[in-house]
Amino acid sequence: MSEKKQIIITGGTGFIGSHTVVEVIKAGFDAIIFDDFRNSKPWILDRLEKISGCKIKHFDVDCNNYNAMSTALNSLQNVTGIIHFAADKAVGESVLNPVKYYENNIGSLTQILKLAKDFEIEHLVFSSSCTVYGEPASPIVTEETEIKKATSPYGATKIACEELIQFAVQSDQKLKATLLRYFNPIGAHPSAEIGELPQGIPNNLVPYITQTAKGIREQLTVFGNDYETIDGTNVRDYIHVVDLADAHVKALQRSIKQEANFCEAYNLGTGKGSSVLEIIHTFEEVNDLKLNYVIGDRRPGDVVQIWADPSKANNELGWSCKYTIKDALKHSWSWEQNID
Ligand code: UDP
Repeated sequence: MSEKKQIIITGGTGFIGSHTVVEVIKAGFDAIIFDDFRNSKPWILDRLEKISGCKIKHFDVDCNNYNAMSTALNSLQNVTGIIHFAADKAVGESVLNPVKYYENNIGSLTQILKLAKDFEIEHLVFSSSCTVYGEPASPIVTEETEIKKATSPYGATKIACEELIQFAVQSDQKLKATLLRYFNPIGAHPSAEIGELPQGIPNNLVPYITQTAKGIREQLTVFGNDYETIDGTNVRDYIHVVDLADAHVKALQRSIKQEANFCEAYNLGTGKGSSVLEIIHTFEEVNDLKLNYVIGDRRPGDVVQIWADPSKANNELGWSCKYTIKDALKHSWSWEQNID
């Protein structure tokens, strides 16, 4: 029997989840994946085993299905934590289908919290988002920045999940939780074995760039260049997915040292903003190619500019970013070229 602490990773074959599986194993835990591949591919598991050099346990379960998850847990020992990624994340789709988002994102969290209580799992790390800050009064946000009323059902589910976790922690002496507010994850594993696999037409900037460079998309449209920013295009805090994954390990390690009722939120960003045009030009430069792009209209609902103050995560989690935007854009392109 494994003596290692076992960590359930829901959505462990998704973009951030898969990179987190690698880092969790590297840190000496056993990673157990709960994933029904609805937004990913089973071959990601083979890639994860290749990178990690070990067998990885996987359960094909829906995180809304308490019975399926509890059956899986009954076959495991030493489960100490859950990192919960499994969720829907397309802002536009959430506007068209809010019920799906509330059902999948909030529904699955309720089942995960029941499971944590019933199986006495002490640590929960939750995937949140800087979307909770909406359009901030100042572009640089700390964890104290006001949480705004959500402008999309997707954003609303992240706020509701954070609130639910805070209440759950207060009501349960065992549970400790960490809420990780992601800025814009990009890049891929340096091995180019895993990365982002968008379903259909990408909504996010970097997969759209790499698919355009590869010829899958004809042209990238920059959504507006008349904002009050450094060059008129939106500014975001783009963070390498491996750095983001590493923060989950640091969060777990910190949670393990905490007393009852621990619940903290952390911004995960680099602390530096980049405009859409800066990302495009850096991508062209580091990969030595030209991208076909045009300037188009603004995309409704886009935040003008936002970046993280990551001091709290730096100081309390002992975490900082190791990769640059250039590394991330190189790795994204290597990964794109490696997808069949
Ligand atoms: N963006 C763009 N063209 C695209 C996709 C995105 O100009 O095809 C811009 C978008 O307007 C935003 C930035 O890229 O300013 C990041 O968008 P993404 O959807 O990746 O992240 P989010 O808006 O959620 O921060």
